[in-house]
Amino acid sequence: MARCFICGNPAVIGSYCKECFRNQNPPVKHFKPLTIKACVECPAISVEGKWIYEPTPDTIPALIRKKVIMNPEYNLKSMIVSSIGNFQESFHPVQYEVKVLVSKGKHDIEQTYEFPLQFEKARCDRSLSAKSTYYEGILQVRGITAVVEEFIDLAIERGKSQGNFLVKKTKMASGYDYYFTKNKFVQKLANELKKQFGGNFKSSSRLVTRDRQTSKELHRVTILYKSPKFFREDLISVGSNVYRIKSTVGKITAINLNNGKSERLSPDAKFTRLIPYTTNVSKISPHLEAIHPSTFQSVPIRNPKPKKNGERVRVVYIDDHSLYLF
Ligand SMILES: [Zn+2]
Ligand SMILES: [Zn+2]
Repeated sequence: MARCFICGNPAVIGSYCKECFRNQNPPVKHFKPLTIKACVECPAISVEGKWIYEPTPDTIPALIRKKVIMNPEYNLKSMIVSSIGNFQESFHPVQYEVKVLVSKGKHDIEQTYEFPLQFEKARCDRSLSAKSTYYEGILQVRGITAVVEEFIDLAIERGKSQGNFLVKKTKMASGYDYYFTKNKFVQKLANELKKQFGGNFKSSSRLVTRDRQTSKELHRVTILYKSPKFFREDLISVGSNVYRIKSTVGKITAINLNNGKSERLSPDAKFTRLIPYTTNVSKISPHLEAIHPSTFQSVPIRNPKPKKNGERVRVVYIDDHSLYLF
């Protein structure tokens, strides 16, 4: 059997093994240089003097593909350009790899390269002429909680990969103003927040400019989202009533544990959040009683249900003299 004259392994392509053939004949001949100017204030990028204001996640990979010069020795079967590393600090990933699959005769050869991309910080014409950051929509979130803030942060990360960008985040009295490059994204995010956490939003829109070149109108949308102070399944007390929240979408409805009836609560109701406990039933007749988690005394349950002696039950309380099942 013929041996590769470089390494001595079985020769499969001419007088080379596959690996040595690839080393002698790199699938990519060379990369043409590519310099991208990226606006520091918005997602715009510029290549060879032309600004692209709405790049999609494929804009840069497509530019890179054009700069890959293949070795004519091979048939190109596929080329995949993907971003590598994270890009918290910028609008776009700054590192890319090029993976090529080529064939020589009946042999497939694969190789991955890091593309030598040059990134330069710049300011786009739009940001220079507007003398301010370009954005289309503002999401104002008030009454923000850590959970809501985290939900928004994750949505922003996801949005980035679909070409939606946060350009500014401003701290306000009880929340933040988020400035986004796309109106549609603001609308979508407000809907997601309402669906996830309840609460309500108000939307307003203003014609701010007409693009001189395209005569396209820009409407700037502002959405004010008020995050509810409590969430579904929360246990709260308002005055001497104990409630379990049923819904915070639109109207706030809750079950009054005193009588099992559904009631509507005001979003501004002064409330106390109750801590749920697990305890044991201590008596089932003549009335249901359980051990109070704070005093360890047997006390009546205000909303009794059929239970067995000693059974574990979940309770809340607002005083030392009684408990509520929930
Ligand atoms: Zn070899
Ligand atoms: Zn810009």
